[in-house]
This record gives sequence, C-alpha cells and structure tokens, in this order.
Amino acid sequence: MLSYRHAFHAGNHADVFKHLVLIQIARYLGQKEKPFWIIDTHAGAGLYALDAAPAGKLEEFRDGIGRLWARDDLPPAAAEYVAMIRSLNPDGRLRRYPGSPLLARWQLRTQDRLRLFELHSRDAHLLAENFADAGKQFIVSQSDGFDALKALLPPPSRRGLVLIDPSYEEKRDYERVVNALKDALRRFAGGTYMLWYPQLTRKEAFELPARLKKLPATDWLHAALRVRTPAKDGFGMHGSSLFIINPPWTLYDTLSATMPYLAATLGQDDGAGFTLERQKPAASSAASARP
Ligand code: SAM
Repeated sequence: MLSYRHAFHAGNHADVFKHLVLIQIARYLGQKEKPFWIIDTHAGAGLYALDAAPAGKLEEFRDGIGRLWARDDLPPAAAEYVAMIRSLNPDGRLRRYPGSPLLARWQLRTQDRLRLFELHSRDAHLLAENFADAGKQFIVSQSDGFDALKALLPPPSRRGLVLIDPSYEEKRDYERVVNALKDALRRFAGGTYMLWYPQLTRKEAFELPARLKKLPATDWLHAALRVRTPAKDGFGMHGSSLFIINPPWTLYDTLSATMPYLAATLGQDDGAGFTLERQKPAASSAASARP
C-alpha cells in the first residue's frame, strides 16, 4: 500500500531542479515539427495548493520555489521555469504549484501526446480531475507506470521523453528503475529518458548512479544538486539527481550556466553544490563545484 503523497513536498528543491530540466527537454523536442510524446510514469496529482494542507504542513516549497519566486537575477532556464509558476499565480502570491503533468502539458503542440500514470488512488483521482478534458492528446491512467511503459514504446513518431520519477518509498523501486530503463532502451533506443532519484545515505541510492552508467546507452548526462551536508544520523534527503539518457545536445551547456545559481540559491549550508557529468559517443566531460 502506497503512503507517499507528493503534495507534502510540492515545490521543494527537488521539484525545482526536476521541473526546470523537464521544461528544457520538452521545449527542445518542440523545436522540430514532427510530433513527440511525453510519458510520465509516476505523475502525482498534477497540481498542488501550497496554502493548504498537506503542502502547508511541511512548507518544503519555501526552500524550493519560494527562494526563486521573487528573484530578478535568474539565469535563462530558471527564468523560463519561474515564469510558468508565476503564470499559474497571476495575482503575485505563490499559492499554486504545477506537477510534472501540467508542466509537460504546457509544452505540447496539437500534434504531441502526453501519457500519465499514477498508482495511488487518491492522487490518480485528483490527476484525472486536473485533466478532466483528457482525450486523445492526454491520457490519464491509474496504473503501474513501470508496467505501462512496455506497451507504449516506441511511440509512433519515434520521438519522445519518458520521465521516471518514483517516490522510492519501496526499496524495490531502485531495482525497477534500472530494469525499466534496460527494457525501454531495447524497445526505443533513441528515446530521451529522464530519471529522478534522491540523494540519501541509504545504500541503494548511493549505488544507483554506477548502475545507471552501465546501462546500454552511450549518450547520457548526470546532474546532481546537493542542498545541504548529509545529516549525521543519515536522516532525510540532502539533494537530488537526474540521469538523462539521450539528452538534448544543448542541455549540458544550459545546466552549466544554471547549476551554480541553483546551488547558491537553494543551498542550505556549506555542503551545497552540484555535479554535472556527461558521456557522449565521441567525448566526455565533467564539472563539479561548490557555489
Ligand atoms: N512526477 C511528479 C511531479 O514531478 O510532479 C511527482 C511524482 S511523485 C515523486 C511519485 C508518484 O508516483 C507518487 O504520486 C506515487 O503515488 C506514484 N507511484 C508510486 N509507485 C508507482 C507506480 N509503480 N506506478 C505509477 N505511480 C506510482
């Protein structure tokens, strides 16, 4: 039985990082006329109220979007992301926050498709409400996103982004993400895959990047944003990471220009920083820094 609810965490530092990158990838896909698909295997509820429970309980958004919301010195990718959050809150008060389904939807043209999967019954219900106009272009399904992926790949246009963003409340999610990516790459080797995972002191999270780098993919980007020093008792998430297979060629430079700002702005102590690594078929490079 799933107990994780993304509403408690909406708009936190991990959402900022993930959503900013999601927008960049979707916009890149939209540069060609040919249709693309976005498949969001772990979609959440799609839209969150920050001024009410449950988001209002932990107020994680204050150390996430809250720190960027009023800034006027945002680098371009952060400015594009914040502009979308501002457009959802036109009265200037940060009260609503979009999940990945809504941010993805805003990037679609009429020829593009969005497929959303959410297993938790309550969140699947809210997601369906938030996509009440679902039809051919958007399909919402209360089902297991890992399983659903198999039937959808490759998309008919052979252009697409798969976002895999589990809650990792079940230890087996670490195994499932690796297996899902292996299987997906067999079906659709040219797809873009964006996997989110938490930085935690637990063994499975620590070992995941090495396993991802062994996947049969020659073109990937690995970006990690640390917001604080890991707690001595090992409790809590000190940052989050994205492993992106077949990223847009522009993404490394975009993140090089954005990550220092994110680490400086979202950092909570002097353990904050970022790592950016890329492997390309021809060459590879890496950057790592404290803000
Ligand atoms: N992608 C969302 C966003 O960025 O707004 C947040 C997703 S949240 C981190 C993970 C979600 O996955 C939770 O809502 C959880 O209920 C759901 N979930 C967990 N296991 C799942 C599975 N096997 N298939 C589909 N959804 C699942």
